[in-house]
Amino acid sequence: MIEEKIIQIKKEISNNKLIIVSKYRTNEEIMLAYNIGHRDFGENRVQELIKKYNELPKDIRWHMIGHLQKNKVKHIIPFIYLIHSVDSTKLLSVINEKSIEHNKKTNCLIQVKIAKEETKFGFTQEMAYNLLNSKYTEYYPNVNICGLMGMATATNQNYQIENEFDNLYKIYSKYPKLNTLCMGMSQDYKIAIEKKSNMIRIGTYIFA
Ligand SMILES: *Cc1c(COP(=O)(O)O)cnc(C)c1O
Repeated sequence: MIEEKIIQIKKEISNNKLIIVSKYRTNEEIMLAYNIGHRDFGENRVQELIKKYNELPKDIRWHMIGHLQKNKVKHIIPFIYLIHSVDSTKLLSVINEKSIEHNKKTNCLIQVKIAKEETKFGFTQEMAYNLLNSKYTEYYPNVNICGLMGMATATNQNYQIENEFDNLYKIYSKYPKLNTLCMGMSQDYKIAIEKKSNMIRIGTYIFA
């Protein structure tokens, strides 16, 4: 049962923040989690995110976790709680511009490429250091960069996943202004927690 899985996983992850990944799930399934008090949900497609935002209770905190196209930023700025998937400085500029238009400051995580797979979006580790060492609060005054997000390679080689999470923590630990290290999904959240993640994104484990 969805509710039991959520209660179990929240116990297991203690102080970590749980984002329930609700992509492809129905409003009814989301409401099962909502009705036991859960409020943080993640979606990876703008269209589906907007539809669910419109149909579901307004106190849900919506997290954008998938690749975000620049021309779609304006649609989510008015209500998004946290964008996990900022994968370029160009996207950061657009988020800043649209946030200024809406007179708000948008919470963002920098997505860093830690996996070996070529297909994943994100800043290289070098680009992440360049950004974090820059005067980014001056360049993007209406963006609040709260932390980093990363996805490990989908593999059953635990040492590789551990290594990749270590690499992300290494960057995170150098910047005390950051407070969110979002790593860990259904397959690897236990490793992520050992590696000092403080926010995890879980879909399949809860709903399947
Ligand atoms: C789908 C997705 C998840 C959740 O993955 P599960 O394996 O279903 O837990 C987490 N993060 C991102 C970016 C996703 O797209």
